[in-house]
Amino acid sequence: MTTTLPAYDEVVARYEPVIGLETHVELGTNTKMFCGCPTDFGGEPNTRVCPVCLGLPGSLPVANKAAIEATIRIGLALNCSIAEWCRFARKNYFYPDMPKDFQISQYDEPLCFEGYLDVEVDGELVRIGIERVHLEEDTGKTLHVGGATGRIHGATESLVDYNRAGIPLVEIVTKPVPGTGALAPEVARAYVTELRDVIRSLGVSDVRMEEGSLRCDVNTSLNLPGAQWGTRTETKNVNSLRSVERAVRSEIIRQASVLDAGGRITQETRHFHEDTGDTTPGRSKETATDYRYFPEPDLVPLAPDTAWVAELKAALPELPRLHRRRLQEQWGLSDADMQSVLNAGAVELIEQTVAAGASPAAARKWWLGELSRRANETGVELADIGATPAQVAELQGLVDAGKLNDKLARAVLEGVVTGEGSPTQIMTDRGLEVVSDTGALTAAVDEAIAANPDIADKIRSGKVAAAGALVGAVMKTTRGQADAKTVRELILERLGA
Ligand SMILES: [Zn+2]
Repeated sequence: MTTTLPAYDEVVARYEPVIGLETHVELGTNTKMFCGCPTDFGGEPNTRVCPVCLGLPGSLPVANKAAIEATIRIGLALNCSIAEWCRFARKNYFYPDMPKDFQISQYDEPLCFEGYLDVEVDGELVRIGIERVHLEEDTGKTLHVGGATGRIHGATESLVDYNRAGIPLVEIVTKPVPGTGALAPEVARAYVTELRDVIRSLGVSDVRMEEGSLRCDVNTSLNLPGAQWGTRTETKNVNSLRSVERAVRSEIIRQASVLDAGGRITQETRHFHEDTGDTTPGRSKETATDYRYFPEPDLVPLAPDTAWVAELKAALPELPRLHRRRLQEQWGLSDADMQSVLNAGAVELIEQTVAAGASPAAARKWWLGELSRRANETGVELADIGATPAQVAELQGLVDAGKLNDKLARAVLEGVVTGEGSPTQIMTDRGLEVVSDTGALTAAVDEAIAANPDIADKIRSGKVAAAGALVGAVMKTTRGQADAKTVRELILERLGA
């Protein structure tokens, strides 16, 4: 069946989207949530397991304090209230990657609740309400083998790895976000980006979407202006920031085409496909699954001491948005200039280059100019370009000291990027230093004067502007290594101008 999809701009002129995001973050604790098993990535299947995380009869869980602390810090950074008393709950469902056949989670008593996160989109501040931040344990992983796709369809057998089972997982759920109109996809992306930066600044997770330590489900619905909110779908498998934006956009267009044709939206999970950028239906949620939640009887309730929570709050680092704002002021950048720094992923690099001694303007010039151009050409991230902030600061130091001019500095940077060594080393080894020694330059200047008698006469008669042509001639014979200022002074001196 082929249907022509409506255009996005036309759809958002008629329908109002409402989005919501559920994010799972794997905490970077040393041990699992309820046992002492190590959590590091990799390892032979089923080697990082014990009776507790395998759910063997008679084993008893004990909550990981570091994970509780990390969750409270996330909650505080998201402006949440912290529960004075709450419990873990059993979420009962049967799935092979859950050894206990229930997951220890939180239900109606989340550890953190009622917060918000401010994000910037197009220079506007959008406040995203946070409904809850709760703590739970991750499941294991199922591997389907024998089929072509790695999916269960066509597989001859399924294998289960419980290394991940029991790793602490924080779930962060937003309130529904209405009123963003055409910007809904950008708002969704900005939220996940900001959330990632906040959690990274807390140092509680490496929040890598591609490795699955940050996972995101996107809820989308459409309604006509003034009407009730529509039925929402939940898009899973959204594995990059760009995909968050694409998933919302494609789901808005799809739902509009269904509604336009007089159909109705089914409440279901959908799967996002990186390759095509669209979603396909997964599990229907029309009949609510009964997870038979009840308070976990093997764990004592959580009652974080208010003094401890206040201490954690006082020790929170500066939040990324405020940090960026402060840098922008220090660097004296306009909003548009700061945006281009952000888009290039250069904030930290410039910050570190300035810390290593370069001026903000110089640091920005190198990272957004020569190095960004190279990164684009070779398709690598700016941070992986091969030059460090310290090297860029050293290079600029050589320029400031008059040892390199712009052209020579670019040649030295080329060597830095290809791993030839430090800027000073490359400058010395390749003999790229600016020649400002008058003795060495006088011969070249005299040669240029002799070769261009007409120009020399002009300068002698007071047309000093003509000196530029002779400076150019000297730069040519010295292969760009002469100090232009010294050359100019020498020319005027020799010609008595
Ligand atoms: Zn264990």
